[in-house]
Amino acid sequence: MQDLLRGRKTRKSRPAAKTRGKPTIKASKRLQPVADDHNWLRIALDEVLERDQPLWRRPAGNFRGSGSGDLCVWSLTFGALGHNVPHDAKRQRIFDTGKAIELGVVGAAKRAKVFVEGSDQLEGVHGDRMIVSHVDMVARRPETGKKYLIEIKSIKNTDYGAYGFDTLPKEHGPTAAGKSPLMKNYRRYVVQWNTYAWSPEVDLEEGCLLFEAKNNQDRKFFWLVRDRGLLDETLARHEAAAEYAFGDPPRLAPVPEGFDPVAGEGECRRCDHRYLCKRLPAGPVEYDAVRAEDAKLRG
Ligand code: SF4
Repeated sequence: MQDLLRGRKTRKSRPAAKTRGKPTIKASKRLQPVADDHNWLRIALDEVLERDQPLWRRPAGNFRGSGSGDLCVWSLTFGALGHNVPHDAKRQRIFDTGKAIELGVVGAAKRAKVFVEGSDQLEGVHGDRMIVSHVDMVARRPETGKKYLIEIKSIKNTDYGAYGFDTLPKEHGPTAAGKSPLMKNYRRYVVQWNTYAWSPEVDLEEGCLLFEAKNNQDRKFFWLVRDRGLLDETLARHEAAAEYAFGDPPRLAPVPEGFDPVAGEGECRRCDHRYLCKRLPAGPVEYDAVRAEDAKLRG
């Protein structure tokens, strides 16, 4: 019995001996909640990212090449007239991460001595500055001396639905831009690349869309050949939008057929302009009337 008691005692006392001299309160119980007055750092870091974002910019007088894949003529005119939806700090951080990834690729290309030109030197233009583009990078293959247009995209590993690095199609070699399987879910990026490739200042037949995953830095390369049909379609859409955006007075184009900002499906679902778009008449709307309606909503 004594032995049994001793044994029991010993078994019970072992864990106590093991923790002697160590904290016995669970870590989570020792942590203090963050008091309001200790949110100063979070607030300071967020505020600097969120401030100074205008609701309206001065009308640019051109369309941005980065938005040339936008299928909505009305949306193109919103952008050209300067409508802006400020981003919260988290979204700004996401953009900053994307920019850092682009700089990482460009920096490596410079060290690898394949870099030819980048966005700070090369501007691609269509139709009397109707579309103005800033190219990520032109790279030269060392063995052949041939130049390629490279556009860098950073994406989350998984996004909702069919989007995200993990659901990208298989990498492919040189393929006509309009035939790339990327056209299904990443049409905007393919059109953007194609628009840049055809600008007289860039004028490159081939190149690639390089995707890097934001979570684990995996990469996929999709090699593209520029596509005249896709460019013609893009230019036609921009010319239709230009008639309104750069007319006198400047106006929003009418809602294109097949778009329904009220239902908010398809292209309208993720559109930043939708909150305002769905309150405006579906026909062309003059700039001043758009600003007046927006002032009722956003001040
Ligand atoms: S909400 Fe739809 S119709 Fe309106 S601008 Fe956006 S995509 Fe175009």
